[in-house]
Amino acid sequence: MPRTNNPVVGTVTCEDCGETATLHETKKGRHKTYLYKRCHSEQCGGSCDQSTSPVRQKRWRREIIPREGYEHLKEPGEPSNDAVPEPIGEPSPEPEKNQEQEPNEPKATGAPWIIAGIVGAVVFVAKIAKGAA
Ligand SMILES: [Zn+2]
Repeated sequence: MPRTNNPVVGTVTCEDCGETATLHETKKGRHKTYLYKRCHSEQCGGSCDQSTSPVRQKRWRREIIPREGYEHLKEPGEPSNDAVPEPIGEPSPEPEKNQEQEPNEPKATGAPWIIAGIVGAVVFVAKIAKGAA
């Protein structure tokens, strides 16, 4: 039996048996905390993996499904495809040119709205005229 029963901080898939194992936090020294794994499956029989190797620790921190209040233990893994896509296209070697183009854009996109507004006004006036007649 362990001397202290550290609380479960999360769960992880056991690399030995594939079952869900529990992860616990243990303090080593003053500031360092390490995770250790305890697997209660038939195969592992409650064995404890207290490896402090950086590789193992990192793996657990990536794979951990943290319990409430221990979300900070979870480390982001490798950037997935869901991450922000890299900007594809011209790297804009001439920023001055881009600045010149910008003022033209509002005019181009604004024109249809102006036309729509004029058409709308004409229709509105026509309706009033009809009503008055
Ligand atoms: Zn196991």
